Amino acid sequence: MSVETAIARPPQTALLSDLSVTARDHLKAIWTASEWSAGKVTSSSLACRLDVAPSTVSTTLRRLAERGLVSHKRYGSVTLTDLGTATALSIVRRQRLLETFLVRELGYGWHEVHDDAVALAHTASDRVIDHIDARLGYPTRDPHGDPIPDADGVLPPLELTPLASCSAGDRGVISRIDDSDPAMLEYFDQVHLTLDQVVTVGVTRPCAGTMSVSTGTGGADIVLGDVAACSIWITRTDRP
Ligand SMILES: [Zn+2]
Repeated sequence: MSVETAIARPPQTALLSDLSVTARDHLKAIWTASEWSAGKVTSSSLACRLDVAPSTVSTTLRRLAERGLVSHKRYGSVTLTDLGTATALSIVRRQRLLETFLVRELGYGWHEVHDDAVALAHTASDRVIDHIDARLGYPTRDPHGDPIPDADGVLPPLELTPLASCSAGDRGVISRIDDSDPAMLEYFDQVHLTLDQVVTVGVTRPCAGTMSVSTGTGGADIVLGDVAACSIWITRTDRP
């Protein structure tokens, strides 16, 4: 192999074409779970997250462990090996680039992209993904603000604060919105909350599980319930 070829593609990922769709889904789910929470990933939490039978998870984890992609002790937590992490990042990169492509180039709504992006991520060649990356100008985040790993699996740094943890008067720019529930994304469209919107927290009512936010555009304050507030992360800015 020439030096040029070795540099062109990071060598530390498993060949995606050697992995079943189920195996890829498991790798991505393990990585994504640890992206959002520091809690342990277990077989049962994976079964719940992927909506599959526990026996499917056990079989898949055993196969992934045999290939050196995960480390899993019976009844223990599931972790990705270095090879597993790099492979999961390449899967995440594909999906997030495709989400960006579908929204920017094909006019999809941000609540519509998930299923098609997942399907395309499983079938698109590396060459197509690299061309999409270049066509989009090497984006570092997808339409929901999720960071896109670069071709070497490096994630851009993020320093975000959950909106739900903010107090009255706190101000920031919406930088990431949980994309797991399309209905929630549609709701945010309806109330005009989107990425890069500046918001200031108004009244918080922990007893009722609500907080109001203003967008400074002259409209009425938007009252968000706990579930909605927990779906938004902001980049804190100075108080006005
Ligand atoms: Zn996304």
